[in-house]
Amino acid sequence: MTAFSLTPEAAGPGLRVARRTLERLRSVPALAGRYPGHLDAGSLERLAELPPLAKDDLNTALAHLEPAAERSATWLFQSGGSTGAPKVGYAPTGFYMAGVHAHWQPLDRTDVFVNAWGAGRMWGAHFLAAALADLSGCRIIALGSVAREEYGAWLEFLAARRVTAIGGTPSVLRLWFAHARATGSRLPSLRKVLWLGEAWQPQLEADLAAVAPRAERWGMFGSTETWVVGTNTPHCPADVFHPLPDQLVHADADGLLDFTTLNPEMLNPVLRYRTGDAGELTGCRCGRPEPAMRVLGRRDSVVQVRGLGLDVDELIARAEREPGVARAQVVLTERDGRATGVEVLVLAAGRGAAPDVERLREELFGDTFTLNTAFQHDPGSFRVRPVDELVGNGRTGKTAALVVREES
Ligand SMILES: [Zn+2]
Repeated sequence: MTAFSLTPEAAGPGLRVARRTLERLRSVPALAGRYPGHLDAGSLERLAELPPLAKDDLNTALAHLEPAAERSATWLFQSGGSTGAPKVGYAPTGFYMAGVHAHWQPLDRTDVFVNAWGAGRMWGAHFLAAALADLSGCRIIALGSVAREEYGAWLEFLAARRVTAIGGTPSVLRLWFAHARATGSRLPSLRKVLWLGEAWQPQLEADLAAVAPRAERWGMFGSTETWVVGTNTPHCPADVFHPLPDQLVHADADGLLDFTTLNPEMLNPVLRYRTGDAGELTGCRCGRPEPAMRVLGRRDSVVQVRGLGLDVDELIARAEREPGVARAQVVLTERDGRATGVEVLVLAAGRGAAPDVERLREELFGDTFTLNTAFQHDPGSFRVRPVDELVGNGRTGKTAALVVREES
């Protein structure tokens, strides 16, 4: 069953943009052969018949098309650094945030907003959040990324400035709030937590309840290729977003989402573009009449370990239920394509918390069929190790659930 976030009538005028995007993609020699048909005016069925665009295809197209500054500046950003080879995406002045702000206003003039998305290194989130805050007319503290040793002093400063809002990737926000909770820092004025870049982490709620009990989450969903696709409010579930009217979301029969931009200013040729996220179109409990999409996360949660599927997200969820564990991450080591070891890294939930890693290891090993079968002859190849820091992407602050390492 395939479904669109817009009716044919609502999508109609925007499909002119999709037709132009199709012509641009067709002008790329490496892709031209994939698009034999044309796109009828107002026909969503024909759109659904076009081949989906994967990250590599988009990279090929952008290398050929090289969007130029026509009406405004052209910014270059890098994407894909967390889960694949880096790719380039483009955005004009304002990062399309005026359109986002017209439909979603988490911030207002009275807010003091901390922008904790990392700036620089060609990562776009800090700049788009800055554009949104600028449109909101609030006070902005452009903090960017901060090293762990600096959290204490900054938290003191932020409390003194009576900050009302903070934004960042959930991985980074979790470090902030876990630190604040463990050290007794409080942000009593904080009411809003903006997030983008990863799925919301439910464990954040417990830290927020202690550090900033009045804070509520406001989420954006998107990518460096599509820019912001949808948003939600504290009244929506954390995995449900309302697509913006110039973003056409399609849930394909195979359960994957793809995105087509209907915004004439869009520089990236986004036509049935797949981020790799699975999802579905749904209603939302907030009662807003517009369509909503539930994002079910990447389909790549299962990896092959000696011919058996290991569900990485499940293993992490299990480890993170262990008392004293703040976060967990799976590191798979391979040699010539064969798994030589699986390690679960665990980050303690603050100073003094000492999870019982030996017991956790026994439990995970015993209860996980893939692990106790794949490593039955070398059980020592499955380890659980406490660490001070998970393996992160220094550029985006994101922490991938799975890190694959080639053994030399
Ligand atoms: Zn909603």
